[in-house]
Amino acid sequence: MVARVPVRQGLFVDADPPLLLGGRCRSCGRPHFARQENCPYCSSAHTEDDAFSGPGRLWAHTAVTAAPPGYQGEVPYGFGVVELPVGLRVVGRLTEADPSRLSIGRLMDLVVVPLHVDDEGRHVVTYAFAPEAI
Ligand SMILES: [Zn+2]
Repeated sequence: MVARVPVRQGLFVDADPPLLLGGRCRSCGRPHFARQENCPYCSSAHTEDDAFSGPGRLWAHTAVTAAPPGYQGEVPYGFGVVELPVGLRVVGRLTEADPSRLSIGRLMDLVVVPLHVDDEGRHVVTYAFAPEAI
């Protein structure tokens, strides 16, 4: 079996179903992703770990057709914002690269997808959002 490693530690749980690792503010109650020591909304240091699951609703999307600096995966790929049920808007990769096959409000599943193979032959994976089958 090919080993899978997350593109970044502490960002998500590669499980079925996957989870995004973020935090929640104990002062204002708002969730955030990725995890931060201070609340991005009220700056409170009283934050705690929280985890978020899909599906969510597609809030905005585009297609990336040229590889960003340092990016080793395939292009084009979809990129967008998905609003999770907890009210959190998450920026991330979309498994659908063709904008004509996406629409705002579409239900999107949280998934983990391979990005590229590293020097040690391991599959580097990241979280992404996939249009839910209709
Ligand atoms: Zn806060």
